[in-house]
Amino acid sequence: MNQSPLIEELIQSFKVLPGVGKKSAQRMAYYLLERNTKGGHLLSAKLAESLEKISSCHKCQDLTEYDICQLCSSTARNDLELCIVESPTDVIAIEQSGIFKGRYFVLKGHLSPIDGIGPNELGLPILQQRLQNEGFVELIVATNPTVEGEATAHYLQNMASKLNIKVTRLAQGIPMGGELEYIDSGTLGQAFADRK
Ligand code: ZN
Repeated sequence: MNQSPLIEELIQSFKVLPGVGKKSAQRMAYYLLERNTKGGHLLSAKLAESLEKISSCHKCQDLTEYDICQLCSSTARNDLELCIVESPTDVIAIEQSGIFKGRYFVLKGHLSPIDGIGPNELGLPILQQRLQNEGFVELIVATNPTVEGEATAHYLQNMASKLNIKVTRLAQGIPMGGELEYIDSGTLGQAFADRK
């Protein structure tokens, strides 16, 4: 136990971050208190502001401080292709590959009945509306190549084929069980180009 309960609480707070254990949390807390109070204030303010202002885009569910995000409101994108991903970081990975110029829909997860995550939790009614109204000709399902990602992809395929929208999946090159955000942009770009 730390001699300061507040410092102890600060250390505990850092442990909410993924991959941060007791030792790293302690290092971060002491670094800010001892050596970078200015950075600490900035971090604290930005974190509070972001948590307050950032929520889901009403169209694609990506994270944004606007009602409609910049990718959805951009006039430079094509309106014929819609790419479906599991997480906002997948959008960043695909954007970095530079190969896709269509629109996105972010599920923020995958179907997982055990955890109570069904079509409604993923926003699929919003997706259904978009598929009916926006005239997409191709749905690119870029869910992760995990068991849950595949099950989700299957569900989306059914949804789109009822509306006669062509469905493609990213090609080989994405390792089974892998996650898009950890794949280099060259491999991701190739998987996109070779989609089927
Ligand atoms: Zn959006």
